[in-house]
Amino acid sequence: MESVEFRRELHKHPELSFQEYRTQQFILDALAAEGIAAERIASTGVLAKIEGRRGNLKRAVVLRADIDALPIVEQNDVAYRSQNEGVMHACGHDMHAAVLFGVLCELNKERNFEGTLFGIFQPGEELNPGGASLVLKEEPFKDYAVAAVIGEHVDAHLEVGEVGICPGVFMASNDELRLYVKGRGGHAARRAEINDTVTAMADMVVRSTKLNTPDSVVSVGRVIAEGATNVIPDRVYAEGTMRTFDEVEREHIQALLRSNAREVEQCYGVEVVVDISHGYPSVKNDVMLAYEAMIVAADEGIAVREMQRLTTAEDFGYYTERYPSLFFRLGVGAKAGGSHTATFLPDEAALAVGERMMRRMALHILNK
Ligand SMILES: [Zn+2]
Ligand SMILES: [Zn+2]
Repeated sequence: MESVEFRRELHKHPELSFQEYRTQQFILDALAAEGIAAERIASTGVLAKIEGRRGNLKRAVVLRADIDALPIVEQNDVAYRSQNEGVMHACGHDMHAAVLFGVLCELNKERNFEGTLFGIFQPGEELNPGGASLVLKEEPFKDYAVAAVIGEHVDAHLEVGEVGICPGVFMASNDELRLYVKGRGGHAARRAEINDTVTAMADMVVRSTKLNTPDSVVSVGRVIAEGATNVIPDRVYAEGTMRTFDEVEREHIQALLRSNAREVEQCYGVEVVVDISHGYPSVKNDVMLAYEAMIVAADEGIAVREMQRLTTAEDFGYYTERYPSLFFRLGVGAKAGGSHTATFLPDEAALAVGERMMRRMALHILNK
């Protein structure tokens, strides 16, 4: 099967995070038809394995693609439009999976490399705890020396034919932030008898967003105070996101949020609970791998853009914590539109570029 056909089939039948049952079976069948060994992993994922013709088979390179879709009603008018109403491949994970499939097919025919090549079709990138953490929990590479884990993401800010590479820290960690203010509400006109939970939360939100720096993000996107013109509620709730580029900064921001909460409690006589649910760690590219990828790309005639770090997050960060890793961006052209929107449509011409990049990097590292 050609990569374009593979991609369109996935696009037509998108599935939400950790529900990729049909997707999993389709991938298993497509790999089997190519004679590529594969098994289920992380419940709805697939782990493919190809052994090289020579060398130490315990030395491995892992290529990774994610496979989940988003709860969006697709508005693209294409023949392979989503047939699963309300679910859409709006982040390009269908592209990632098709690139990986194409690379595995090609390398399986040649097997002209040393060591073992793994391909992970990973579920649940879009949702905590992240499919990457579930894959690694199964320790699929415990008997191997993993020389590199390589992943990619489509990017409409880059043109087709371009890849974006950032040596070192590339993407942020993300934590979910939930704030609860509890106090004695009551008649809004009898201020002496109440705790002003609404103003306490407003103060907490302002203090939180003041923690924004070039190295960290704190944003509150939802505040619920269900009082009335003349009612101050007992409870006010807010939620948002917190992003940093390293663990020290992550701890530091969390400590500041908690000390702000103590101050707000003192000022307003309320209770403030700060609940931080840990999301993905930051994506740290191995510096050597990043520079090697730049050389490989140039050699393949693929244009390289050196990228600045991004405040978005990726569960690929879990691989980068464990193994030398590289996460690069694959240009799909500005016409693709915004990811996570109902009209996102990457240029399929990028599939061949992604395949060349991944294939060459895998061979370069395995045959070193
Ligand atoms: Zn996404
Ligand atoms: Zn994505």
